[in-house]
Amino acid sequence: MTRVLVLNCGSSSVKYRLLDVPSGRVDEVEPAVVASGTVERIGEDAPGAPRDHAEALATVMAGLPLDGLTAVGHRVVHGGLTFTAPAIVDDTVIAAIRELVPLAPLHNPANLAGIEVARALLPGVPQVAVFDTAFHRTLSPAASTYAIDAETATRYGIHRYGFHGTSHAIVSRRTATLLDRPLAEVNTITLHLGNGASACAVEGGRSVATSMGLSPLEGLVMGTRSGDLDPTIIFHLHRVAGMPIDEIDDLLNRRSGLAGLAGVNDMRGLLARRAGGDRAAALAFEVYCRRIRSYVGAYYAELGRLDAITFTAGVGENAPAVRAAALAGLDRLGIEVDPVRNDTPERGARVISPPGAPVAVCVVPTDEEWEIASQTLGVVS
Ligand code: ADP
Repeated sequence: MTRVLVLNCGSSSVKYRLLDVPSGRVDEVEPAVVASGTVERIGEDAPGAPRDHAEALATVMAGLPLDGLTAVGHRVVHGGLTFTAPAIVDDTVIAAIRELVPLAPLHNPANLAGIEVARALLPGVPQVAVFDTAFHRTLSPAASTYAIDAETATRYGIHRYGFHGTSHAIVSRRTATLLDRPLAEVNTITLHLGNGASACAVEGGRSVATSMGLSPLEGLVMGTRSGDLDPTIIFHLHRVAGMPIDEIDDLLNRRSGLAGLAGVNDMRGLLARRAGGDRAAALAFEVYCRRIRSYVGAYYAELGRLDAITFTAGVGENAPAVRAAALAGLDRLGIEVDPVRNDTPERGARVISPPGAPVAVCVVPTDEEWEIASQTLGVVS
């Protein structure tokens, strides 16, 4: 039995999960959750709010049974081109994560704060950084290169890094398990639809295309982010509307997507309004599903042969209406959603296409904390 603490430090929150992993192949065992929780409102000027990450983590750790802890796994959002795999934290790794702050100004500083506090509080326990971007370092140059001036791109690190890697990794693996086929033989399009959303084409376990790019703004329509748009929109808002660049950043990241189109960033709320006849909500739903469908088409072409399409995360796991609408009209491509299977209240990994369909449409719950724990144990053992 090994005990692993997983920490996911956001700009104003800390999520933690303490897991006991029975010995055996990490991928095949079911870990026991000893404790889990979230501390929010870090740094807010409110009664009881923790002053900073150090205070929040000290409180969390004081209440956890950490005797005999094997390792701490940290979620780190941006690993740039430096990190292609999880890394045991030392001063060099910390310096490299710090160098990537300009690419992830909101996330990497919070992730670093978590690493530094945990290191100080648990001396002698290995700390491992697990990167959201690392799974996508298998993208070919053709898939990760933006068609802009090459020298400028190199100088400023303009590159498709991709995100949600831990989720796409575990979900594509669990899809192969669900279909009872070797991972190396299965081509899957994974659709992570949470507050943030991204698509990934996974060829035999390797990421070959993904919709998020330099940052998590690109690609699918999200709760508050626009996803793909014509970059001229930014110039236009700056030159014609006179918006400062930080305001446009805020508009596209926090006031766009479902929130911008229908005034609600939460899919449950959007579906309720759409059912009540709200036309803005109906349009937002169409825009959201249409974007997913066009990525499915693009990634089908990219993969050449498609075995599975897998939905995951809050929306993907819980919104049958989105799954049905996103894949509607694709039966000529062998992609079909069975209405009865799609609507079952079942929670676990399952197939929702008709029996014998050429492409298995699946719902597979994601578990990023477990994937971080598993990758952490993989490097310390
Ligand atoms: P995060 O990206 O923050 O981890 P989640 O994966 O939890 O987010 O996904 C949050 C999204 O999932 C929200 O838009 C929420 O409305 C949606 N969601 C959760 N449950 C349901 C449900 N039963 N039906 C439709 N949408 C749901």
